[in-house]
Amino acid sequence: MTPELAEGDLVQLVDNKGRRYQGVLTPGKEFHFHSGIIGHDELIGVQEGSQVRSSRNQAFLVLRPTLSEFILKMPRGAQVIYPKDLGPILMLADIGPGMAVLESGVGSGALSMAMLRCGARITGYEIREDFANRAQANVERFLGHDAMSRYAVELRDCYEGIDRPGPEEFFDRVVLDLPEPWQVVPHAAEALRPGGIICAYTPSIMQVTRMREALGEHGFFAAETVEVLNRSWYVEGAAVRPDHRMVAHTGFLTHARRGASTLGE
Ligand code: SAH
Repeated sequence: MTPELAEGDLVQLVDNKGRRYQGVLTPGKEFHFHSGIIGHDELIGVQEGSQVRSSRNQAFLVLRPTLSEFILKMPRGAQVIYPKDLGPILMLADIGPGMAVLESGVGSGALSMAMLRCGARITGYEIREDFANRAQANVERFLGHDAMSRYAVELRDCYEGIDRPGPEEFFDRVVLDLPEPWQVVPHAAEALRPGGIICAYTPSIMQVTRMREALGEHGFFAAETVEVLNRSWYVEGAAVRPDHRMVAHTGFLTHARRGASTLGE
């Protein structure tokens, strides 16, 4: 990726109060703010990280948004998994290039984007057509059209079963963000290869209990549940301390490995 911004790039403008505005650079289009206008043509060819000024002389920093920044701004149908949990999910579910991942539900596509970026091939099961469309539009906007060849979203209920990727093939990973992941566990046990990983995000600890029971009953082992706390700090001169406010809770992450059939059956 070159430092110079080009037509078709997703960019964000950040003002001196930290407010962010995003858009795809399109010749002839304009960003409109309270504090004036910036034409997209003025940004094409400019280096990322430059300061630009609006027609009313307000300064903005122009940058390509990171995946985290895009997720916080993108149009959402369902509640997304936040970046603080997305990073750990990539490690706990051990997502890597070429891996066959079953994801359900896909919601707004935040988790899909994080896993696609690691090179995974995703089959997504989603029951709501509007969310399925939203997720695919978000993925294409941030990762580009090429990523869509690794992202197949199907309108179907994951509680009713999982089709293996092929007659002789298995999924490497099953990653879940839906209300009753324990209903998926028996299907995941059939669709995952031995040694494969299941990972579920659940807001409530009651969901964790049900999930852990189901994992134990269906040949999964090495189960673990974690929560991730993220405490930001205020750093200004001699005042260096944790911020007063933090997000106290989002969800629990439960992960386990599929045993070979001799272990589980
Ligand atoms: N992880 C997503 C958000 C998922 S929200 C993100 O980061 O953007 C939960 C999604 O699960 C919703 O879109 C809901 O429609 C879907 N869902 C709920 N039950 C389902 C089921 N049984 N099968 C498939 N999808 C389901």
